[in-house]
Amino acid sequence: MHDPSYEVVVVGAGSAGCALAGRLSERGVRVLLVEAGALSVPPDVASIASLAATAPEHALNWAFRASLVRGHEAAVPRGRVLGGSGAINGGYYVRAVPADFADWAVPGWSDDDVLPYYRRAENDLDQEGPRHGDAGPMRISRPAGPLLADATRPFLAACARLGYPSEPDKNAAAPPGAGPVPTNAVGGRRVSAATAYLPPPWGAAAPGDTLAVRGGSPVSSLVIEDGRVTGVRLGDTTVHADEVVVAAGAVGTPALLLRSGIGPVDTLRAAGVRVRHELPGVGRSWSDHPAVFVPFRGGGGIGPDAVAGQAALNLDSGADPAGDLEILLFARPFAMDGPAHLMCALQHPQSRGMLAITSPDVADPPRLDYKYLRTESDRRRMRAAIRIAADIMRAAGWTRVAPSGDVLGNDVRLDGWIRDVLTTSVHLSGSARMGTDPDAVVDPQLRVHGVDGLRIADTSVLPSVPRRGPAATAIMIGERAADLVRP
Ligand SMILES: Cc1cc2nc3c(=O)[nH]c(=O)nc-3n(C[C@H](O)[C@H](O)[C@H](O)COP(=O)(O)OP(=O)(O)OC[C@H]3O[C@@H](n4cnc5c(N)ncnc54)[C@H](O)[C@@H]3O)c2cc1C
Repeated sequence: MHDPSYEVVVVGAGSAGCALAGRLSERGVRVLLVEAGALSVPPDVASIASLAATAPEHALNWAFRASLVRGHEAAVPRGRVLGGSGAINGGYYVRAVPADFADWAVPGWSDDDVLPYYRRAENDLDQEGPRHGDAGPMRISRPAGPLLADATRPFLAACARLGYPSEPDKNAAAPPGAGPVPTNAVGGRRVSAATAYLPPPWGAAAPGDTLAVRGGSPVSSLVIEDGRVTGVRLGDTTVHADEVVVAAGAVGTPALLLRSGIGPVDTLRAAGVRVRHELPGVGRSWSDHPAVFVPFRGGGGIGPDAVAGQAALNLDSGADPAGDLEILLFARPFAMDGPAHLMCALQHPQSRGMLAITSPDVADPPRLDYKYLRTESDRRRMRAAIRIAADIMRAAGWTRVAPSGDVLGNDVRLDGWIRDVLTTSVHLSGSARMGTDPDAVVDPQLRVHGVDGLRIADTSVLPSVPRRGPAATAIMIGERAADLVRP
């Protein structure tokens, strides 16, 4: 007889995993939440003004190795701590737009279907109405008063002067435009899914609690018996459960499936992993927003507790009314005396990436190949975004630091400059995507195709990267998964 210790094991205490585990334990489900990283966030990382944990050598950063374009290597940050990437991220909290859900066309995941879950997660302190929540654990606000950077009003005024519409509420499903960024920060501190959904003290369950949290070591593989997942391997031990939900993020989740023998046969064989279940879509065909920081001077200062990403212009490059470009005012310099930036990102890219493991050993990080800007459409739209950023700087009276006018005016030279400074928004999505076709990894109930007892609940399941940052959507997925696991 199988006598599971837990009803549900959730692997990964990130944005989605914390929301899921918190909601399940509220319903009396016996849950173990396993996190590879630490169970506490130091004060310097908890400050919304800090991107300290994005440094490659930081203990809370996985710092995965990646190729962005041919010959351009980068370390890609992901949170390795309670709260996951949401505990170290930029704090921009914007939902996917209705066009994303329409494009994905997954039964049960229309904009109308998911709206209640976005609302249930949210307590918007500034906005109300039928698209907003006022009782959820994620407190959302927009920069105001001392938290407003000097550059924010001139940025919005410049966008208006150039004829772009205003979008005062970026979570209202209105046409794209320029407006303040909703932020999961209150009083200068990040509200992560861990601080929002889990009762402290983490890792030390009180008597009667149905939630246990274990940190400090990764799940190395899933235990599969006769086509069914019955538990997870954690160090030298095996933890059994009726159901395992993998929420290890869009890098950690496909890596764990691959280490467990679930994935494309060629990838598994190349890594020396025994094939347990063939699923060609694991780690394949994911997407992320390519981004370029365009530096400027003359925008003034920013308070110590203010979020860097203050306001954004979302706009249509010509073929995407839902807005395929984003220009984000990033009002804090990276270096002490450095310039502020406009971050230009391609929000609906065509290029698709690949992820593979190199061995079955959990200590060997997966390898990411973004294959950014492979299509002329992606390159053209990225050039357009940078030129629009230059127009905004001119209209705001700021001085562009780079690229020079000669480079800006020449497509070939601008492409070269973009390759040199290209980075990623770190919004990776779709590495174990949801759907009903043969390459889909999970079904619309988030169950892994062909493997019993196993679901995935994180940004891996999104069919492609949403047209806005995915943090709010990750939490929505956690909320939704709770209703799927225990209706
Ligand atoms: C630096 C940075 C800035 C960002 N800024 C923004 C932003 O401003 N706005 C926005 O919308 N998005 C932003 N993002 C992206 C956003 O934060 C993520 O997409 C979102 O948090 C992903 O949620 P998730 O639940 O899918 O994964 P995560 O939150 O990454 O959670 C995965 C968790 O699983 C754990 N884990 C992984 N493998 C294992 C294992 N084998 N065993 C146990 N645990 C494991 C990880 O340590 C992590 O805690 C940013 C991301 C980063 C890294």
